[in-house]
Amino acid sequence: MFNLSGKVAIVTGARRGMGRTHSLLLAQAGAKVVVSDIDLEECEQVVVEIEEAGGEAIAIKCDVTNKKEIDGMVSTAIKKFGKIDILVNNVGICQFKPFVDLTDEDWEKTININLRGYYWCAKAVAPEMIKQKFGRIINIASIAAGQVGVGFQGLTHYCASKGGIVGFTEALALELAPYNITVNAIAPGVIDTPMVASVKMDPKTLEAIMARIPLKRMGRPEEISGLVVFLASDEASYITGDMIIVDGGYMSM
Ligand code: NAP
Repeated sequence: MFNLSGKVAIVTGARRGMGRTHSLLLAQAGAKVVVSDIDLEECEQVVVEIEEAGGEAIAIKCDVTNKKEIDGMVSTAIKKFGKIDILVNNVGICQFKPFVDLTDEDWEKTININLRGYYWCAKAVAPEMIKQKFGRIINIASIAAGQVGVGFQGLTHYCASKGGIVGFTEALALELAPYNITVNAIAPGVIDTPMVASVKMDPKTLEAIMARIPLKRMGRPEEISGLVVFLASDEASYITGDMIIVDGGYMSM
């Protein structure tokens, strides 16, 4: 089960947080992994971890706001590993800021990294996946994606980007289904990563969020990466266009 031997995966925003654990677990399942982020050195450290565990990976610097770097990442991956089977669009930024203080630059930065970056990466790998009639695109959304009855103050730009990912996922799944390419989204709840540690969240907001989680703790990055491996595997071949929530029960309260 969940054997990814012979598969090649790209993970964006992979030098730390969930991108790092997606890379480690995909490699553990047998995939060759392209570990990409804006900081090459830290990507290389993730590659070392993968190699020490007996896996295969390469590090590539890729800023997802730079189309040339995305195209370069894809062509380097193909040169090195011959193909691309799995794309994990994981990159993301999250900056709390009240709507009234939000600048156009704040809005554009978040949308360009969190949403346009997903579009550009999917666009860059889709031709390869269409050619080989196989692919898995996994987009990391959030419970802050809207349509779930819960809003998040100070995150209008972030929520707009994550909601966009869900619509993008559903539409792309329809268009790529004829080529045996599945496209799914994962909506994590609050996960203990450097992102959560660094956001300037009002302590009362964090307290209210934590009080709402039935499992009474943040999720661990590996608890999202397990689902990434499942969605990338043959066992998930009939799942497409879906958003799967992993939130310790947050949405059930
Ligand atoms: P993280 O620890 O901040 O990791 C994200 C990585 O992406 C960082 O290394 C970050 O670098 C990098 N990055 C930022 N801008 C980039 C760009 N333009 N090009 C390439 N890489 C870039 O975040 P995480 O918590 O693991 O989150 C991973 C994904 O899950 C994100 O999409 C996030 O929105 C989503 N998510 C997280 C949570 C949570 O509670 N943690 C909940 C729901 C959804 P910098 O550090 O320099 O920005």
